[in-house]
Amino acid sequence: MFLSVFDMFKLGIGPSSSHTMGPMVAGARFLDLLRRQPFQVAGLRASLHGSLAFTGVGHATDRATILGLAGFTPSDYDAEKAEAALERIRSERLVTPEGLPPLRFDPARDLVFDYGPPLPGHANGLILRGTDPQGDVIVEETYYSVGGGFVLTAAELAQGKATDDGPPVPYPFDTAAAMLRMAHESGLSIAQMKRANELSRIEASHLDAGLRRIWDVMVACIDRGLAADGILPGGLKVKRRAAGIHRSLLAERGFNLSAPHTINDWMSAYAMAVNEENAAGGQVVTAPTNGAAGVVPATIRYWLDHVPGASVRQVPEFLLTAAAVGGLIKYNASISGAECGCQAEVGSASAMAAAGLCAVLGGTPMQVENAAEIALEHHLGMTCDPVRGLVQVPCIERNGLGAIKAVSAASLSLRGDGTHLVPLDAAIETMRQTGRDMHEKYKETSLGGLAVNVPNC
Ligand code: SF4
Repeated sequence: MFLSVFDMFKLGIGPSSSHTMGPMVAGARFLDLLRRQPFQVAGLRASLHGSLAFTGVGHATDRATILGLAGFTPSDYDAEKAEAALERIRSERLVTPEGLPPLRFDPARDLVFDYGPPLPGHANGLILRGTDPQGDVIVEETYYSVGGGFVLTAAELAQGKATDDGPPVPYPFDTAAAMLRMAHESGLSIAQMKRANELSRIEASHLDAGLRRIWDVMVACIDRGLAADGILPGGLKVKRRAAGIHRSLLAERGFNLSAPHTINDWMSAYAMAVNEENAAGGQVVTAPTNGAAGVVPATIRYWLDHVPGASVRQVPEFLLTAAAVGGLIKYNASISGAECGCQAEVGSASAMAAAGLCAVLGGTPMQVENAAEIALEHHLGMTCDPVRGLVQVPCIERNGLGAIKAVSAASLSLRGDGTHLVPLDAAIETMRQTGRDMHEKYKETSLGGLAVNVPNC
């Protein structure tokens, strides 16, 4: 199964890849299904299940589902147009997607949060239905938002690991062990093998332009976050802090006032800037999810701004290496908080960032694998318990800590020769098993942990 660098890094909108982007993508897929039907539908209905119901309001899942059914997609999302469309749909009780007749859809009646047992396939399920003029269901599809904005139908999920119809890739590694073996045999770096795999599917110019665009959006997101003050939406009254921390760091520069550990505050400021933008519903790059979107950009920005010799020309090498590791984790375990807790989101992002940083700092494939393993190992068991179902607490700060661990993991790895006791494959499998055994209330339901112990003020 080939997972492209553009599967691991996607342009998206906040606050959640699984709860916001996924349902929007599902809506777009359902509209395609309707366009292929020999008959016309007159109306739509949607029901949200499992984690999509429990934390759906905080994650704006209802808005995303409505917009998806109206034809919006995360990659060309326009916030102003979306707001206008939502207002119109709520007042007219109608959606008008391209290529279909106007469809009856009253969000207050036709969009249901189902708090019963989750659907059998995955914690994040939604059912979309098309109805005839009498309101009877004539077409129905079940979708699962499996993390990182990936969406599968019930049938696709039942097939097991998703199939890949594309041409074979030259380095088809599906484990870290295979990745290291192929690197050893070919003499190539992990980024070079990943690039060769990508080029078996797309033109070099598209790959390079796409990687540039990913980094441009990451930088723009950091910069917007570092310039914005105020209170985040959602009702928790969480204050944006990245801009203030950044201002104080800039003020201390050059005065020899800072302790060495202050470098961690730079990483936190960059990561928090991204996750505050995400929490505000802004444009981010899923990396590999929205909740964990700050770790990789913060690590790159830290390296570019603070490490002598860093060059933006190496950002593609960073992203390709990180994507190779993210693909292994997604294929063999999960990148979904609803499936395996936050170890799968911030833990995966930290492993990806550690691998990318180790690579651009000159690490061998074995050191890169070691860096990813260290970062993932020390996120094992981390639960997902967002307060009020918002991707704010603990998520925003947690991305800063994920970036700090990524930098430490890369640095520790570079002090060794790449040999180590716990293989990355073992850490990934441990994460999968730990996620499977983790109680449901710690998997993006907001029914346990911080979500129930932080007083609602
Ligand atoms: S706690 Fe982690 S997994 Fe859960 S929503 Fe926040 S970032 Fe995502």
